[in-house]
Amino acid sequence: MDKNRTLIVGSIGLDTIETVSDRKESILGGSATYATIAAGKSSSVHLVGIVGSDFPGNAMKIFEQSTVDLSNLDKKKGETFRWGAKYASDWDNRETLFTELGVFKDFNPVLTERNKEVPVIFLANIHPQLQLSVLNQCNKKECVIIDTMNLWIDTEKQKLKEVISNCDVLILNEFEAEQFTRRKDHDDQGTVLQSLGPQNIIIKCGSKGAKLYSGHRLDTIGVFPVDSVIDPTGAGDAFGGGVASSLANGDTLIESIINGAALASLTIEGFGIDTVYDASLEEVNKRKEHIRTTLNS
Ligand code: AMP
Repeated sequence: MDKNRTLIVGSIGLDTIETVSDRKESILGGSATYATIAAGKSSSVHLVGIVGSDFPGNAMKIFEQSTVDLSNLDKKKGETFRWGAKYASDWDNRETLFTELGVFKDFNPVLTERNKEVPVIFLANIHPQLQLSVLNQCNKKECVIIDTMNLWIDTEKQKLKEVISNCDVLILNEFEAEQFTRRKDHDDQGTVLQSLGPQNIIIKCGSKGAKLYSGHRLDTIGVFPVDSVIDPTGAGDAFGGGVASSLANGDTLIESIINGAALASLTIEGFGIDTVYDASLEEVNKRKEHIRTTLNS
């Protein structure tokens, strides 16, 4: 009965995004936001996060629709987390223009009794101390998945190692894996990262797909081909949310990565949350069918 519940903690924010052809200001973003929208399509999401008094009511409605439990979504006087970024034409280079933690600075959630019992936990990208504090309050921890970013590898590596050592699945992109391990080869990165604790390491390689190091096994999973990328923001978070929700439903890790990859492909086809939020389960399933054909090919 508990099987399909996922606890998600991460940032909820207002993003300002510049691409070569467009600019949008203060649109709904944040790692937990993308993860929740993705995971909410097929699992019951319990969201842990905080927003400020400037958080728009219509954005709150999106959380009401995508979750079953908002008892740990705090609303405090002050500014919502804000992040600004600019993409180069090749999409690979993203410059962070600003990160304003706002109400996240002093966020110290106390999980409700119900949220402590959720068996699958996705620690989406946020300060490792916050990831750890949420994890330490959870009683079940049947499956713990963690995502992070270059900023925390740079500034909080020890704390991050502590969280990673308590996880079952670590998700990183190939640049973060190299930054963390100081190794260039993916196989070496997988071995170093497994030695920290988690036996399942997912290395995301953008349009080249993802690699799964699980015990001694390596599997490769491709992508759903997208004709035109509009905004890649949040693709990694939607991927993580898709992995977590699929694991909560009892799927294999490979099938979970296929779900994550389908949701990531939808995310990059529109600005902000737009396309992934609007996508039907039929569309997700159609993309999963294609991605399945790329397994280990
Ligand atoms: P991604 O494109 O998957 O790397 O995720 C982008 C999302 O992460 C944006 O919507 C941001 O609001 C959020 N984000 C950016 N920097 C941080 C940070 N330092 N901590 C938490 N979330 C962040």
